[in-house]
Amino acid sequence: MIALKEILLQATREHWSTGHFNASESDHMRAICEAAKEVGTIVIIGTSEGEAKHLGYDIAVSIRDGLRKEFQIPIFLNADHHKSVEAAKAAIDAGYDSIHIDLSALPFEENVAGVNEVIEYARRKESGISVEGELGYLRGDSKIQKEKIAIKPEDYTDSDKAAEFVKLTGVDRLAIAVGNIHGISLDEPVLDIARPKDVALVLHAGSGIPDEQIKAAIEAGIANIHINTDIRVAFVSELRKTIGEHLDEVAMYKLDASATKAMKEVIIGKLKLFGASNKV
Ligand SMILES: [Zn+2]
Repeated sequence: MIALKEILLQATREHWSTGHFNASESDHMRAICEAAKEVGTIVIIGTSEGEAKHLGYDIAVSIRDGLRKEFQIPIFLNADHHKSVEAAKAAIDAGYDSIHIDLSALPFEENVAGVNEVIEYARRKESGISVEGELGYLRGDSKIQKEKIAIKPEDYTDSDKAAEFVKLTGVDRLAIAVGNIHGISLDEPVLDIARPKDVALVLHAGSGIPDEQIKAAIEAGIANIHINTDIRVAFVSELRKTIGEHLDEVAMYKLDASATKAMKEVIIGKLKLFGASNKV
């Protein structure tokens, strides 16, 4: 299977973006793969620390293996927003393909040191593991934001700092704060991208950003976009509707089938928007 690093470099060069979608159940992981297969692209399935604990690290890896066999497309499993070196190591031990070590809340030097510890550990285990670091402060969490979230100038990733961070760590990917926030915001976020070289840039919190800004971000060099809130909203609103309409139904797999389908449709739309069609 082609390495994630190669795919991300290719995407950067060709100005399209890979998709990263979060999952907390095997059904969701399957829906993500079905969507990617239909569009004809690679896919990254992400589990945050909470999602990974819900699924189980070993179980998530086993499901990925089963999905690879079934779908025959490159499927990568990413430990999304792992906020400690220990949590990142647990994901590496379980067999994740990719680690997002998010120490962005720590001072710069501590962030660099922690990321380097994870990279060293990953390389000792297996050479192909892709590691993502994060700089800048991403506000919000993955839900619909009821109150306006103000993004302060100091939250943005500083491009000189970013270049220094990449040099000091050798991360494969860098998550940057460029006006994006976690969760769907009420205001349209304005993205402002300064691009450090030799690293794949990752845009988190891709939900709720207008299509035109997503396209501009990809043009500016973003090679991976994270979507979580949009698929959660699609799933839960459809599930609520179905449960309301079928109060006598108790077979869970029947109740959530249309919700999973709604999630899949959103993912297909995003992958097409990212220009990822026929890029396996
Ligand atoms: Zn994120």
